[in-house]
Amino acid sequence: MSRQSSATSTKSRGVVGLPAAVAASNSNNDLASLFECPVCFDYALPPIMQCQSGHIVCSSCRPKLSSCPTCRGPLGNIRNLAMEKVASTVMFPCKFSTTGCPVTLLHTDKTEHEETCEFRPYCCPCPGASCKWQGSLEQVMPHLMHQHKSITTLQGEDIVFLATDINLPGAVDWVMMQSCFGHHFMLVLEKQEKIDVQQFYAIVQLIGTRKQAESFAYRLELNGHRRRLTWEATPRSIHDGVQSAIMNSDCLVFDTNIAQLFADNGNLGINVTISMT
Ligand SMILES: [Zn+2]
Ligand SMILES: [Zn+2]
Ligand SMILES: [Zn+2]
Ligand SMILES: [Zn+2]
Repeated sequence: MSRQSSATSTKSRGVVGLPAAVAASNSNNDLASLFECPVCFDYALPPIMQCQSGHIVCSSCRPKLSSCPTCRGPLGNIRNLAMEKVASTVMFPCKFSTTGCPVTLLHTDKTEHEETCEFRPYCCPCPGASCKWQGSLEQVMPHLMHQHKSITTLQGEDIVFLATDINLPGAVDWVMMQSCFGHHFMLVLEKQEKIDVQQFYAIVQLIGTRKQAESFAYRLELNGHRRRLTWEATPRSIHDGVQSAIMNSDCLVFDTNIAQLFADNGNLGINVTISMT
């Protein structure tokens, strides 16, 4: 099968008389396909390693293989500098071309683009790993409205996120939506049980891209009983999610003792202000 398809592409490269643009784009597609990893069909990009017979395999598959997937020969440690030079001139399609991204790029720009590519699937922004939903950005709000009906939404840039029963034992998440400036934000308060203390993490994420998130700022404030605790930051994009920020304490963090200072009857109100920067 693979022999047949390479014969076809050789032939099409030999065709003369095609309009220049078509011929150029065909030959670029042919070139890009030469870099396809035979295991995962992603592109093998520099540093490009080959087996003793010259077959290539991508760098993420290579460590998992004990022999060449094409010829079963030893993989060795042979670098193919000529392929690397060619790779730097080829326009590769974005990884999400299958879901509609029309962009082709030099391999050096590929990773950066794919991290922010609009066609990269979005995961469900609800905290906790219970919902496995994935889809496009446009489908996130319909998903939340149909599958997470219990989440309430407040309108306006200045609201109070009221977390009830903060003394509930175990790990608990409180979630609320806030709509302002034509965008939807998800407010998350997460309680984690550490060995000797309970820790609270509060954070805001935008139902939108990273770029969109950069034009906003949010402020979280615990206020009352002659005390004030404030945190200000850029909202996270749901493309990144909140878990890594929570793990790095890149959010409003406080323990149970502080929560008690601000709570009323076990309920904690967090003032949330969203502004445009
Ligand atoms: Zn691979
Ligand atoms: Zn081989
Ligand atoms: Zn893309
Ligand atoms: Zn979900």
